[in-house]
Amino acid sequence: MSAPSKVDGSTVSATHSGLLDLRSCPGAGDELYEIIERLFPFCRSITGNGVRQTLAVVGERIPLQIREIPTGTAVFDWTIPKEWNIRDASIKDESGHRVVDFRSSNLHVVNYSVPVRRRMTMDQLRPHLHSLPDRPDWIPYRTSYYNESWGFCLTHKQLESMRDAEYEVYIDSTLEPGALTYAECLLPGEIDEEILLSAHVCHPSLANDNLSGIALLTWLGERLKAVGHRYSYRLIFAPGTIGSITWLARNEDKVHRIRHGLVLACLGDQGGPTYKCSRRGDALVDRAVSHVLTHRFPQASIRRFSPYGYDERQYCSPGFNLPVGLLERSAYGEFPEYHTSGDDLSFITPDALSESLEMVLSILDVIERDQCYRNLNPRCEPQLGKRGLYDVIGGENNQANFQLGMLWVLNQSDGAHSLLDIAELSSMPFEQIATCAGLLADHGLLARVPSQ
Ligand code: ZN
Repeated sequence: MSAPSKVDGSTVSATHSGLLDLRSCPGAGDELYEIIERLFPFCRSITGNGVRQTLAVVGERIPLQIREIPTGTAVFDWTIPKEWNIRDASIKDESGHRVVDFRSSNLHVVNYSVPVRRRMTMDQLRPHLHSLPDRPDWIPYRTSYYNESWGFCLTHKQLESMRDAEYEVYIDSTLEPGALTYAECLLPGEIDEEILLSAHVCHPSLANDNLSGIALLTWLGERLKAVGHRYSYRLIFAPGTIGSITWLARNEDKVHRIRHGLVLACLGDQGGPTYKCSRRGDALVDRAVSHVLTHRFPQASIRRFSPYGYDERQYCSPGFNLPVGLLERSAYGEFPEYHTSGDDLSFITPDALSESLEMVLSILDVIERDQCYRNLNPRCEPQLGKRGLYDVIGGENNQANFQLGMLWVLNQSDGAHSLLDIAELSSMPFEQIATCAGLLADHGLLARVPSQ
């Protein structure tokens, strides 16, 4: 096959984007899993040292700008809360045995619990205890960010084993003026227009939601640096809701550069995939994801936008209305392990992570390579045979498909239909259409129309 046709000095052409090469990175799934294993133990929250520890690990791999926004700072209608940190917590029985022990799982304490040290009867304690009767072996994940309270989460089996006796409850936490921490990483491309990729970093020891998203973002940040890409990429690692609100409040002057975006969450389990469209519903990212998922994953679920979920809620608020969708495997709230200790390292697999990565790279590749061409021989079909274009692709089936692909590209390349338009019209995979366009361009039959 001939060399990729480089237009305007770009490293991205119809036949080539650096992202395609990344899809065949050996051991990517294992590497993603190892990042998650390393981050799993930290007790993250919307503020505090767990987020800082997490960002420090991510920062070993990619150049991060870490921001600390002081407690009390106004961000649109919200205020940066007090910073929460925790060292230890337990419920001890009369013999001093730790019946519930923060050291065995950080999910045992309601996230953002105020400090407490008190002796209590079981009756007094019970309103502060949360369990899952339907899933008696799992610890639920609960938070209390915006009203000061405290509580413990435990397995229903643990709860049932607690006798009507006196207990000593102890939460060694602090809730004090401090800062909210988030990080971003800008990877400049050939153009200033940006693709936003965002993951929330506020959940404690939960693997799928959302260490999977953090790991994918980190991996992409590391590898994208090394390959050519047309767009600039902005990666955001921020606590859910308050973090993306804070980023938007501080970057109103930059949001016009964001042309496409994805929130990445729950990408390590074996379900799905699931895509929730941006509020616009017909943005290029929505079409690129739908195209890739329908061709590659017949079981994929593509859903309309709804104002509930992760940080796409903020990016897609009407004052911004950014073209940002949510990509997941199993959808949040729809798998039994969601927000419980069942979402641990055994719930995710390197294979699923690797497949999710391939999915993200294929989507980004469509966005990178989608462009309009003009047929330079538009009066009747050009004779492909005499240019050797019938023999370029081996295999009879392949040949028939590529011939058809070339006919579609030639017929629709009037300068107004992009490669994704043609892929949708022809029901052929984008990659095949793009390969055909690259071949035709190399043979002087197509010219790229510069994008406005
Ligand atoms: Zn969550």
